[in-house]
Amino acid sequence: MSQRDYYEVLGVSRSASDAELKKAFKKLAMKYHPDRNPDDSSANEKFKEAAEAYEILSDPEKKSAYDQFGHAGVQGMGGGQGGGFQDFNFGDIFGDIFGDVFGGRTSSRRSARGQDLQYNIELSLKEAILGVKKTIKIPVDKICVECSGSGAKPGSVPVTCSQCNGAGQVRMQQGFFSVQQTCNVCGGEGRIIKDHCNVCRGAGVIQETKSLSISIPSGVDNGDKVRLSGEGSASRGGHTGDLYVVIQVAQNEIFEREGRDLYFEAPIPFETAILGGTINVPGLESKIALKIPAYTQTGKIFRIKGKGASSVRDSRRGDLLCRVVVETPINLSKAQIKAFKDFAQSIAGDEHHPIKQSFKKASDKFHNK
Ligand SMILES: [Zn+2]
Ligand SMILES: [Zn+2]
Repeated sequence: MSQRDYYEVLGVSRSASDAELKKAFKKLAMKYHPDRNPDDSSANEKFKEAAEAYEILSDPEKKSAYDQFGHAGVQGMGGGQGGGFQDFNFGDIFGDIFGDVFGGRTSSRRSARGQDLQYNIELSLKEAILGVKKTIKIPVDKICVECSGSGAKPGSVPVTCSQCNGAGQVRMQQGFFSVQQTCNVCGGEGRIIKDHCNVCRGAGVIQETKSLSISIPSGVDNGDKVRLSGEGSASRGGHTGDLYVVIQVAQNEIFEREGRDLYFEAPIPFETAILGGTINVPGLESKIALKIPAYTQTGKIFRIKGKGASSVRDSRRGDLLCRVVVETPINLSKAQIKAFKDFAQSIAGDEHHPIKQSFKKASDKFHNK
């Protein structure tokens, strides 16, 4: 799924001011507004694309996320919290930008298109990085089989609305502008159903729970959005909206994800830190044997190549970064303490503690000045 750059969509530079953004959007919106392009689905798509771009770029917070992370940074923004399902539309900005031109937003085309739905899905870190197939259940409006979505009783046909002659819109002059408004007799549909279908009672659709199997690509992250074209709700007339599956990744108790890298801390026994050895660390797919060289200090970070996260853009895996922490042994017996004291005597010399030495030097310098 490729998505055009929002600045490119609006035809402005990355440094465009708020006023320039608004002006650019207004121009596109006037050109592609569904009311001006009835039955032109490409204009509809362009309109929606411009509206989405403007919605993001006109909001300072979303704009900054987009500037930093691109589409992945803003996908799902404005969506709800928690799992489950909700209605979703881009519509809310239309009111203020069209208020002065179109005399308020008309909703006829939207309802004719069918509603976009949003479903929030929670994935484990492993599922998000490696990809997963999930089955989800969503309540959607499906086309009524009885009337094929027309809403009219089989054998009958809807009649053309006499108010708007089937256009669904009525034209009014307002100052310089010729304003189109939704016909209030037919609600913008251009046709009126006299004999309603018995099954859907004229709605043309029936609500049911749809079970959908979806493939989540590998590398998704919080807020990423997967669009399933045509899997949203249907509307009378047989047009369906899209379903947006918004990804939420659950916190993981071991790993922290930073872009393509996965970071975690692992304890190593005191004796391994001194003598060296091998420890088993968690990897996404399976445990990984990590070689610890002799004389390893706390804080040392080992990089395990190609075992980290990936991005939806490409599947190249980042690295696994393991920071080791030397564990001080506890619950020692008297004999062990005695043995340790003897050993400690033997390593009291400066040559065994270079870090301590350089710290002491720095600390002395700090106090003498
Ligand atoms: Zn009408
Ligand atoms: Zn029906």
